[in-house]
Amino acid sequence: MKNDEAAIEENEILAEDFSSWLMKTRDMLMNNSGAEVPCGSCRACCTSSHFIHIKPEEKQTLKVIDRRLLFDAPGLPKGNVLLGYSKNGHCPMFADNKCSIYTSRPFTCKNYDCRIYVAAGIDVDYDPKGLITKQIKLWKFNYITKDSRELHLAVQQAAKFIKENPELFPNETIPQRAGELAILAIKVYEVFFDADIRCKIEPKSIPNKEIAKRIVELSKRFEKQN
Ligand code: SF4
Ligand code: SF4
Repeated sequence: MKNDEAAIEENEILAEDFSSWLMKTRDMLMNNSGAEVPCGSCRACCTSSHFIHIKPEEKQTLKVIDRRLLFDAPGLPKGNVLLGYSKNGHCPMFADNKCSIYTSRPFTCKNYDCRIYVAAGIDVDYDPKGLITKQIKLWKFNYITKDSRELHLAVQQAAKFIKENPELFPNETIPQRAGELAILAIKVYEVFFDADIRCKIEPKSIPNKEIAKRIVELSKRFEKQN
């Protein structure tokens, strides 16, 4: 299929070829290696009243943040903390329109890529200022090959299936947040994509219970590869 990069409108931003983006994102999720997002002038992540989770093993990050800005993360083991935000919704480490601790920023920030919502075809669930939603609307994936487009449809179908069939999943595997749902869909898209024929599949003949079982298995397999 012809590269449709030319279809990008003036008010859109090229999000990358979907297939390359998907593989890189899965690799990033497996290795916690950080996302490469061409954010341009967008600063929505740092200014949208988000609590940033920091794990106890993030020693360098914890070293550069004043302890008084952190508090224990509810429901998580001791040592997990949250970085809050100021009255205007800005992260306290945001200064002069940039992250003041960029090289030591938390993994939550390093790994954040708002394109996951576009990939999964779902809306952000917490965006009080609407800044992330605005940015998401600008992204447009392109599809260098036919299977690139099929892969995108498979990720969207996975997200839709999980969202519409929560009762089929054991409690602990149901994503609570939109971002978690998008990430799960990225991990398990293969349930809706036939790798041999490089094509999205419509598992109409497979009972929903079986599809849910495959999603859970694929998700566990993905986590084991970490
Ligand atoms: S919302 Fe997206 S584009 Fe904007 S800063 Fe965050 S990751 Fe970058
Ligand atoms: S730590 Fe840095 S990258 Fe993360 S939200 Fe704060 S200012 Fe942004």
